[in-house]
Amino acid sequence: MASYRGTYTAKQKKIRLILTLAALAIFLLVELIGRIPGIPFNGWSDIYAALGLAPSPVTAEGEMEVHFIDVGNADCILVRQEDKNLLIDAGERGDGDEILDYLNSHGITALDLVVATHPHADHIGAMADVIDALPVGKFLMSFMPESETPTTATYLDMLEVLDRKEIVVEEAVPGTVYELGTARLQILAPFEESKDANDISVVTRLTFGDRAFVFTGDAGTKVEKQMLSSGYTLTADVLKLGHHGSNTSNSDAFIRRVDPAYAVITCGEGNSYGHPHQEPIDLLLDMDIPFYRADVYGHIVFTTDGKELTLSTQKGGTTYE
Ligand SMILES: [Zn+2]
Repeated sequence: MASYRGTYTAKQKKIRLILTLAALAIFLLVELIGRIPGIPFNGWSDIYAALGLAPSPVTAEGEMEVHFIDVGNADCILVRQEDKNLLIDAGERGDGDEILDYLNSHGITALDLVVATHPHADHIGAMADVIDALPVGKFLMSFMPESETPTTATYLDMLEVLDRKEIVVEEAVPGTVYELGTARLQILAPFEESKDANDISVVTRLTFGDRAFVFTGDAGTKVEKQMLSSGYTLTADVLKLGHHGSNTSNSDAFIRRVDPAYAVITCGEGNSYGHPHQEPIDLLLDMDIPFYRADVYGHIVFTTDGKELTLSTQKGGTTYE
């Protein structure tokens, strides 16, 4: 059989030379720019990150991501806006490595704001591990009277790390707004002390451009009622159902006021509470609100530029609005 090796035409040789020189020029340019001090560019690692080949410590310019990290029947929500990161809750005790792996795989090396919604183990279970491993800018939680302060190991471990690392801790006060890059996080609840820890959940509304998210922790219907009469804007494109889809939260009136385009249910497969309960599911079906369950979809991630909202899930593909 005849070999065609070495039988390039003059035109092919010219193209090959041009391509080789272009590749060399790009390589040198990237290397040179990467070496100029003061330029926020880390050479090839930034290019790999831009191509999605390596974890990027920042979101795309002008975008925000909301990750409902699948930690079973528990909450752990990561919000990224360019180089700023917010974490709401930290799963169950024992989830620390999994959460830190997830954060690490997204190039996250610090948390600007951390919210502990309430002191139950399915929300602050691995909080001590997470805040011990990463620098934390500010920590938000509900303050409780001395007599109500939990004595569980998860809570005391969390307090120990907050104290040892001298992390700035603030009480979540309704109406207060925190900035995360150009995103805003407004505290909606709690309004008062309660013997039911679920009802001291820090409820927040996150806005970025025209898009909004409401994160409810495990706040029950009593708190929903207080929010309905608070005068705060409650509408959102995405609602994290209260209390893993329990019927002790997620009242008809509250869901109708939030009027979400999507609902997320942070429920774990085969959980002993029967979450999510049938009533909230029936309500979502009745209102034609698509809902995404962590036990079915795994990690659920929304990305927005302030207008478009993109949803991708670990197990169930991608849809676009
Ligand atoms: Zn919970």
